[in-house]
Amino acid sequence: MLYQRSSALFKEAEKVIPGGVNSPVRAFNAVGGTPVFVKEAKGAYLFDEDQNKLIDYIASWGPMILGHAFDPVVEAIINKAKQGTSFGMPTEIETKIAELTIKMVPNIDKIRFVNSGTEACMSAVRLARGYTKKEKIIKFAGCYHGHSDSFLIQAGSGAVTFGTPNSPGVTQGTAKDTLLAKFNDLESVKALINANKDEIACIIIEPVAGNMGCILPQNNFLHELRTLCDANNILLVFDEVMTGFRLAKGGVQELYNIKADIVCFGKVIGGGLPVGAFAAKNEIMNYLAPNGPVYQAGTLSGNPLAMAAGYAMLSELDANPEIYTELEQKTEYLHKGLSKVLNKHNVEHTINRIGSMISVHFAKDSVIDFDTAAKGNNQTFKDFFHGMLDQGIYIAPSAFESWFLNNALSYKDLDETISACDHHFSKK
Ligand SMILES: *Cc1c(COP(=O)(O)O)cnc(C)c1O
Repeated sequence: MLYQRSSALFKEAEKVIPGGVNSPVRAFNAVGGTPVFVKEAKGAYLFDEDQNKLIDYIASWGPMILGHAFDPVVEAIINKAKQGTSFGMPTEIETKIAELTIKMVPNIDKIRFVNSGTEACMSAVRLARGYTKKEKIIKFAGCYHGHSDSFLIQAGSGAVTFGTPNSPGVTQGTAKDTLLAKFNDLESVKALINANKDEIACIIIEPVAGNMGCILPQNNFLHELRTLCDANNILLVFDEVMTGFRLAKGGVQELYNIKADIVCFGKVIGGGLPVGAFAAKNEIMNYLAPNGPVYQAGTLSGNPLAMAAGYAMLSELDANPEIYTELEQKTEYLHKGLSKVLNKHNVEHTINRIGSMISVHFAKDSVIDFDTAAKGNNQTFKDFFHGMLDQGIYIAPSAFESWFLNNALSYKDLDETISACDHHFSKK
């Protein structure tokens, strides 16, 4: 496949946009080469600027769970746009999507809409701090909650110590309030709680991690966290920006039968438009302005186009729960096919999967946290990424990303993907 026009467009973009991209995950820094520029997409396929057709496993990093340019969503956007695109005044569609989400998601009474997952997580943490009147938070290494200062933290010198900034521009003052635990390691959480008695406002977690590959909670981890939070007056915040409406109508709360205190959404909830949201029971949500003292606002929050797109998407999922079974079956089929081929070629690998999320790690041992994810063979991944791209299969350009299946994918697409993998490794 040729990528001449993509390369030319990238050169132009680099002159006026840092790194040529508006979000670093789109760059090819981890795999080498230049990013593919998309012209359009429909269903499971991307069509790039060089007229290549690619089978898409990113789904815009999650939102396009029903495939690209899904007709009901596109129509909803067009119809709304004709009536005006933003008012800065309340609209009925905001209440409709709020009612629908509250119906679909367990354990929430009220929801506030924002414009991105970052905003949702940032606001959820502020709310947790305001509500508990405590300042520190615990997050897990490898979990991503957007690019707000409090989350750009890496492990400090000792396990039970404060975090340190992992980006210039994040102050030490902010970093000291974020404590870092290990995913799937309850002892690491207990140690932080004991060392910071009565100072921790919340634990924020991707209840199924999707930003270090796909990593499942092991051995009742989430329920153990719930118990710890209850015993220590700490709020449990589920960042379901990735998993919400993707793994089940009610997300991980439904799937694992567990209650979080605050839940964050993004991605699917906006149907491909920029939307985030956070939700909780009345007692907590009533702490938000204008009812309560915790300030949070947004000029374009609840934007009518975004709400119409999200409402159309969620309505489809709500009315057709079999979508989740179909997606799971497709993902299982892909998992089995890829495993078979990788075993045939004796490629060391671990595949993690749940619902429509799957990740292939070129590592021998189980991948259960950031450290085990980081053990994967990066060179094998780079070669694999380019080998698949050459055959028209688009996976995320990083070994630390999950694949997101969309329900427009056919079994023929999955077979093509499995054969592409077979072909790639038979050349070795
Ligand atoms: C994508 C993501 C975010 C950030 O959402 P943006 O819309 O990119 O700001 C936060 N948390 C999780 C789990 C995500 O996957």
